[in-house]
Amino acid sequence: MKILLLGSGGREHALAWKISQSPLCSQLFIAPGNAGTAQYGSNVDMAVTALEQIRAFCLEQQIDMVVPGSEDPLVKGIYDYFRNDAALQHIPVMGPSQTGAQLEGSKAFAKQFMQRHNIPTAAYREFSEANYEEGVAYLQQHSLPIVLKADGLAAGKGVVILDSRDAAVAEFTQMIKAAKFGDASKKVVVEEFLTGIELSVFVITDGHSYQLLPTAKDYKRIGEGDTGLNTGGMGAVSPVPFADAAFMQKVETQVIKPTVAGLASEGIVYHGFIFFGLINVNGDPFVIEYNCRMGDPETEVVMPRLQNDLVALFNAVKEGNLAAQTIQEDSRAAATVMLVSKGYPEDYEKGKAISQLPAQQPHQLVFQAGTRERNGQLLTNGGRVLTITTLANSLQEALAQSRETAAAIQFEGKYYRKDIGFEFV
Ligand code: ATP
Repeated sequence: MKILLLGSGGREHALAWKISQSPLCSQLFIAPGNAGTAQYGSNVDMAVTALEQIRAFCLEQQIDMVVPGSEDPLVKGIYDYFRNDAALQHIPVMGPSQTGAQLEGSKAFAKQFMQRHNIPTAAYREFSEANYEEGVAYLQQHSLPIVLKADGLAAGKGVVILDSRDAAVAEFTQMIKAAKFGDASKKVVVEEFLTGIELSVFVITDGHSYQLLPTAKDYKRIGEGDTGLNTGGMGAVSPVPFADAAFMQKVETQVIKPTVAGLASEGIVYHGFIFFGLINVNGDPFVIEYNCRMGDPETEVVMPRLQNDLVALFNAVKEGNLAAQTIQEDSRAAATVMLVSKGYPEDYEKGKAISQLPAQQPHQLVFQAGTRERNGQLLTNGGRVLTITTLANSLQEALAQSRETAAAIQFEGKYYRKDIGFEFV
């Protein structure tokens, strides 16, 4: 089978590593990929949302399956684009339809969906220009802190949590009246603040049944002790120690089953990964957000712990018989530590030479994100540069070994958090 994977982050490097192990995959292409993905397939210089170019490539190379790594092509409608084109119809796309991708693409859509299906989530109201004044009045009597969310995709920056009502009104006004996040903040969701510990739960679904993948927890803040600016993610661990059988039972019954059944009952086509961003509030799961693809850097700990052939799971999705599969998880713990460029998540420099990069080993993998190669030299090419995943018998050991390698790898301005997994060790 010839597979086209779309993306260029650490997530896609981890997916490429996993897909390339499958005897079902005869050839793997990654568009646009990075210096790391080139170890496992052929990079193709093509943007993930360039649908016409992707179409031409799939036909020319006789691609048998497309795997979008990030949300952009899914929210743009790549699934429907393939289904509605007679020449592409036979090529499965591992992801939701454009309507299904709205679970991630529109926070208001996701909240309404959860309300319709009684899925636990924070209480909320949505506002736009039309009911702006009502929104201001609502904020002026809201409990603190107040969570404001731009409805659409805002590159992970569209959620603002405020400790004062005046600040909330000012931010709300910026979002709606001054288009702070462009069209994404034409509509704003105002949400109750929930207190608890977050985790990520992933399933793969064929639209009717689903299989649960290993759980993970990521660390979004740049600073140790979860302080400072939000980033794409500075590290992750799997499994999540508090996600025990009793908690996961609640997650399946209260969140996953009603979501998959809700999509099916509403006729929303969904074939692929669902990422549940959850918060554990006194032992009960609440949905903070849905994503319509795997997380990054969670994929870098989930894929190494997944023992199944990922392409066989994709085939089961395509054939609608995922229920017949059994997920096998590595009993070891996995931890990943992200190395980033100085200045990230704000301005940073690129083009720094990377040295002391270890070879891939069965228990320790380096997944590259913002990298490129010039004349045989690996260079930094982004804010998040690479991540080191270690599998070990304990989380503590996995974290220690990832940190040790993080310390050994060199590039100018290297920064990483030394406290990933701090709550669990
Ligand atoms: P991501 O970058 O994960 O895609 P996003 O921009 O889609 O994020 P959310 O995941 O909805 O936004 O929110 C970002 C973060 O804000 C959450 O991970 C969580 O820490 C915090 N958050 C969001 N909603 C709430 C809430 N109701 N109560 C408490 N914290 C919240």
